[in-house]
Amino acid sequence: MDGGARVTHLWILGDQLGAHFDDDSLPSVLIESRSMFRRRRYHRQKAHLILTAMRMRASEDDSIFVRAETFAEGLAQIGTPVEVWHPHSRAAVAMARRLGAVIREGTPGFLTSWEEFNAWAQGRGSSRLLLEDWYRTTRREHHILMEGDDPVGGRWNFDELNREPPPRGRDQLLDRAPLCPTETDVDQEVREVLDRWEAEGIEFLGHDAPRRFAASRGEARAALDDFITHRLADFGPYEDAMMSGDPFLAHSLLSAPLNLGLLAPGEVIEAAVRAYHAGFAPLPSVEGFVRQVAGWREYVWHLYWHLGEDYPEMNVLEARTPGPTWFEELESTAISAACLSDVMAGVAERGWVHHIPRLMILANWALQRGYEPRMINDWFQRAFVDGYPWVMAANVIGMGLFADGGIVATKPYASGGAYINRMSNYCGGCRYSPTVRVGDDACPFTAGYWWFLDRNRERLAGNHRMSRALAGLRSRPDIGEIRAQEESRFGAAP
Ligand SMILES: Cc1cc2nc3c(=O)[nH]c(=O)nc-3n(C[C@H](O)[C@H](O)[C@H](O)COP(=O)(O)OP(=O)(O)OC[C@H]3O[C@@H](n4cnc5c(N)ncnc54)[C@H](O)[C@@H]3O)c2cc1C
Ligand code: SF4
Repeated sequence: MDGGARVTHLWILGDQLGAHFDDDSLPSVLIESRSMFRRRRYHRQKAHLILTAMRMRASEDDSIFVRAETFAEGLAQIGTPVEVWHPHSRAAVAMARRLGAVIREGTPGFLTSWEEFNAWAQGRGSSRLLLEDWYRTTRREHHILMEGDDPVGGRWNFDELNREPPPRGRDQLLDRAPLCPTETDVDQEVREVLDRWEAEGIEFLGHDAPRRFAASRGEARAALDDFITHRLADFGPYEDAMMSGDPFLAHSLLSAPLNLGLLAPGEVIEAAVRAYHAGFAPLPSVEGFVRQVAGWREYVWHLYWHLGEDYPEMNVLEARTPGPTWFEELESTAISAACLSDVMAGVAERGWVHHIPRLMILANWALQRGYEPRMINDWFQRAFVDGYPWVMAANVIGMGLFADGGIVATKPYASGGAYINRMSNYCGGCRYSPTVRVGDDACPFTAGYWWFLDRNRERLAGNHRMSRALAGLRSRPDIGEIRAQEESRFGAAP
């Protein structure tokens, strides 16, 4: 491509699909690359969602839509230089550079800029980059839920109210299921394409099913309205709860449309804040939700760039076990442990489970068993409809697996069956018992917790937040039996 020629198009990437990425001065071009799906084995519904969203976006205006084997071939069809918003991953930046695209400085996909984050991070000197401090700075700077210099309601944090277990005696938290998009002709077209690709040897994970997540701007707005109207009020208290009959509870299901770029984080936050001021939702729920979008999502995005290219390679706990086939293949029926089986079934059925099953079931399991962080990082990214490299670094490597030794989380999120029993209704219907450590009924999470501590006692010895747990380990008379038991059932589905 001629480096001196005038830029003629804006290249819209597959995670930059919303109106806030449009540019009136340049016509848009979208490129669907098949080789992307050849290289890695994605969830079938993730491939479906991305392809559908791109095709829907292209059909909304007079964008040029190119289907090609590779992005290079797609750009060759355009034939003139293109410009692109800053891509959302290092690999995409490198690819855009290699292909001669002019890369813009920033991206409208996030509320806060790199300049804001860097100024905040530098201002902290050697102090930890705490989410809570970043979140408060963002609320102040962007005037979110503020009354002058103070937080609305006089408090920044309602965490202690937002940790309710699931209500007893109910199969579902709410009477109404979240809005589900109605499939269109585009879905059918994409399904046929994916069937053809599969017949040609491209492999996918998980099941095909009716599309569950918004793929167009209109569907994304409808999903946002549905959440604000029907679930936001209950979001706070039940955000950490898990229910076997209700994977969605009061969660927003907005990560996929947000990460596709169909919704701007600012409009999502604004809608929640408006609901609070209109009296539709209580402050703890609204604050809890705003914390996720303005706090966690932005924090995780910036940490991806800030922590550097080598961060996802970290493996401080020296976890070297390759994930077993049943884990990689999402084989829920191979698993007897009620919690893990249900969560794995959710991943296979829809490529999505909410935050706590990701952290306290899937990542906790992988942490306890010492699965290799790089492999788990890749697995989360491929198996989840909302998985992208920038989300993985802090969530998977840092919080989930403690592979960074404490840069993001102050201690490993390892926990036994007691936590799962308190926050879910799984244990009642399980063949294991959460309080049993040794024997046929030994809960694999409870025994696995002690086994994890035992294997990592020296690596964790300097972490003062682990001192109580390690003291508990020292007074554990049955640790030899637990170790032998977990070693003997290691690798098999629990
Ligand atoms: C191990 C692990 C893996 C994860 N993988 C992903 C992922 O691939 N993609 C992804 O978007 N999120 C990921 N998360 C964060 C979070 O679990 C999901 O954003 C959330 O479950 C999506 O469901 P929801 O839209 O209903 O979220 P809600 O619970 O309704 O939260 C509202 C929004 O806040 C944002 N959010 C909340 N928590 C986080 C967080 N920790 N990091 C980034 N954004 C957050 C999301 O945009 C989400 O849509 C992961 C968390 C963990 C612990
Ligand atoms: S007993 Fe253990 S394995 Fe079974 S559901 Fe409870 S935590 Fe999960």
